[in-house]
Amino acid sequence: MKYVDEFRDGDVARGLAAAITREARADRNYSFMEFCGGHTHAISRYGVTDLLPPNVRMIHGPGCPVCVLPIGRIDLAIELALERGVTICTYGDCMRVPASESLSLLKAKALVDKTRADIRMIYSATDALALARAEPQREVVFFAIGFETTTPPTALVIKQAKAEGLANFSVLCNHVLTPAAISSILESPEVRQYGTVPLDGFVGPAHVSTVIGSQPYEFFAEEYRKPVVIAGFEPLDVMQAIRMLVRQVNEGRAEVENEFTRAVTREGNLKAQQLVSEVFELRRSFEWRGLGEVPYSALRIRADFAAHDAEAKFALEYRSVADNKACECGAILRGVKKPQDCKLFATVCTPENPMGSCMVSSEGACAAHFTYGRFRDIDVVAA
Ligand code: SF4
Repeated sequence: MKYVDEFRDGDVARGLAAAITREARADRNYSFMEFCGGHTHAISRYGVTDLLPPNVRMIHGPGCPVCVLPIGRIDLAIELALERGVTICTYGDCMRVPASESLSLLKAKALVDKTRADIRMIYSATDALALARAEPQREVVFFAIGFETTTPPTALVIKQAKAEGLANFSVLCNHVLTPAAISSILESPEVRQYGTVPLDGFVGPAHVSTVIGSQPYEFFAEEYRKPVVIAGFEPLDVMQAIRMLVRQVNEGRAEVENEFTRAVTREGNLKAQQLVSEVFELRRSFEWRGLGEVPYSALRIRADFAAHDAEAKFALEYRSVADNKACECGAILRGVKKPQDCKLFATVCTPENPMGSCMVSSEGACAAHFTYGRFRDIDVVAA
């Protein structure tokens, strides 16, 4: 396939691996965090770490929207469906994220009183809007998740619902922001005080950056002296970004570089940014799984659109819920542990029966390791 196969070429990958090995200094280690779940998936799927020299280490970051969703937010959606007679619409991965009392949206679907409500999987925000339009007697709530990539479509349906006067449509907004999460990691005790997560730089998100541009990362490069290289999601994109990071570290530079020039500009998509700021504003604080409460790290719907804000419409009260004690998702999302450090990995916890959010989405570190790397890990342990 044109424009895809070129970025998966094995010979070029081997050439890049040789260049990284040649350029990485033997007298030091390099630790880079791939922020985004899309990169985690690509690294696991194409065996990128197997091609890197032992002193170049990749650390998984928290950029998987399903993984960072705290239990309390899913509980809100389940409460709406089971107790308020609401039809919840959301993306497939969200349906399986574990919530309180061993429930998930998928399990709760079996308990819903179907004469009043439902829990449905949809492919896009506009599917939820179409349902509300087609069945005006049904109260429809779109359970919206995601980073800056999925926020503009949510803004669009909220605007559209207001324009059409669709009184039975609202959004339970869980949209979160990438720069705030990167700040939280760089300010975390593990990075600053204890040095248990040595970070030499970031592979910056691909799709998110098409919307926000490369400019927001300049702060991290300047303030924290950490290089950032924005990369596409194909394996050669990732390898080229790693090579660029190695070079920056070797040369003592901390800059924002853009490997993904075919889609990302410094300014990003101004039209999408304008749309988002018209409909959303910053929340003072938002709970992330793994990172805890992170100030100004998420969006809420502006008062102008309150009629389509499920939190305002149903007077929802958020309650924080602790994660399953045996699940290490929190530590994995902060880069402190690896999936195989969790006792439940590939035993009790599998993609068919996820115990934590990192095993749900294919972008989750545990799911990616289970699908593409568990046998290698077992071999290493056995050796
Ligand atoms: S393997 Fe399962 S239980 Fe363990 S950290 Fe990953 S998601 Fe959580």
